[in-house]
Amino acid sequence: MISKPKGTYDLIGQDAKKINYINNVLAAMCQNYNYEFIRTPVFEASEVFHRGVGEGSDIVRKETYDFKDRGKRDITLRPEGTAGVVRSYIENKMYGRDIQPVKLYYNEMMYRYERPQAGRYREFHQFGVEVLGCDDPFVDAEVISLAYNIFQTLGLKNIRVNINSLGDQESRDNYRQALTNHFAQDIKNMCPDCQERLKKNPLRILDCKVDQDKEIMKNAPQTIDYLNEESKKRFTKLQEYLDLLDIEYVVNPKIVRGLDYYNHTVFEIEILNEEFGAQNVLGGGGRYNGLVEMLDGPQTPGIGFAMGMERILLALDVEEVHLPIDNPLDVYIGYVNDEEKDTALYLVQDLRLNGFRVETEYLNRSLKSQFKTADKLKSRYVIILNSNDIKEFKVKLRDNQTKEEEMVKINDLVDYLDMHI
Ligand code: AMP
Repeated sequence: MISKPKGTYDLIGQDAKKINYINNVLAAMCQNYNYEFIRTPVFEASEVFHRGVGEGSDIVRKETYDFKDRGKRDITLRPEGTAGVVRSYIENKMYGRDIQPVKLYYNEMMYRYERPQAGRYREFHQFGVEVLGCDDPFVDAEVISLAYNIFQTLGLKNIRVNINSLGDQESRDNYRQALTNHFAQDIKNMCPDCQERLKKNPLRILDCKVDQDKEIMKNAPQTIDYLNEESKKRFTKLQEYLDLLDIEYVVNPKIVRGLDYYNHTVFEIEILNEEFGAQNVLGGGGRYNGLVEMLDGPQTPGIGFAMGMERILLALDVEEVHLPIDNPLDVYIGYVNDEEKDTALYLVQDLRLNGFRVETEYLNRSLKSQFKTADKLKSRYVIILNSNDIKEFKVKLRDNQTKEEEMVKINDLVDYLDMHI
């Protein structure tokens, strides 16, 4: 037997139904918020991610699936959504559209060579949004509120928004310097990854799981103390907007986010539930002014977030939220002989095209077995075809709850069901 690759999973059964339901909720919400669906390639030229996500990030240093294709091109499987969307934004000159900002959402599989564990896969599913062409914290508040309201709409209760600001370039540079000074002395006692991070991206040291309990981590400088006036003002404005929207949040100076491209607003949404364990961050994002230029586009501000769908499924389980996915069947059509089978084929199609959820028999089993299937599918009605009735253009319709039976003319069936379902 051939097994699936390590770190992947088959989406089947109840989980598949749940994801389908969640996808519909996400699409409907994005429609209301006026975000436009975008799909970019699963693979891109490696430099899209190496430049876009940043050589200093863990993703690019250790986790990307990089390979040469048969034409010897350097290719990388998409490890996150933003860089590819930004590449597409530039290539398709979306900055020239007459309606600005450009508001996009994606819903795709991502690929990272990570150590698999509960809630962490090598192929995983992210939903995310990007807003390009607006630098006002007004839009930061919208993006955070969309993320928050998605969780609310799905029925998750114990969620918390953590926000922080990394500030503009000047603030970030000052903070970087402060971190470098802080860790310089003791870096030899820290893990090899942190030693590397100190050179490439000291902010990443704060995400380290190996060294997180060390004293030097606990008293590390905090971004907020290094924000210049302009960055502080902007962060205060964002909080005012979030208050106005009634979004519960905490300012958490520890949030710096793993990717190199963030500045100003960064945020994470976590689920507060002890059963959840280490992977309790459901989603996160931030502002990435400068990324469009880094990928050879015109100067354009941007902000976005991504959320992990597998973690959302876990969260729904832990919080015992039951999505309405077990929709009963409207009609089951049962038959025995060939003449009835012809009518079944026709009737099933007719009712389905009229908007009813209909099932029938495929394996020529007995009526008794068919009725059992109808019960298992929780069918509201059962039609029992019979050659003599068909000659009179009638069918026997059983209400599967009351077990009452009625003869209905075939031509009246749609109207009858419309009235009763
Ligand atoms: P990131 O792009 O790393 O900020 O991740 C955003 C969200 O995607 C996280 O909060 C998780 O919910 C989810 N996520 C990231 N990596 C994985 C993974 N390897 N497996 C499953 N979900 C993931």
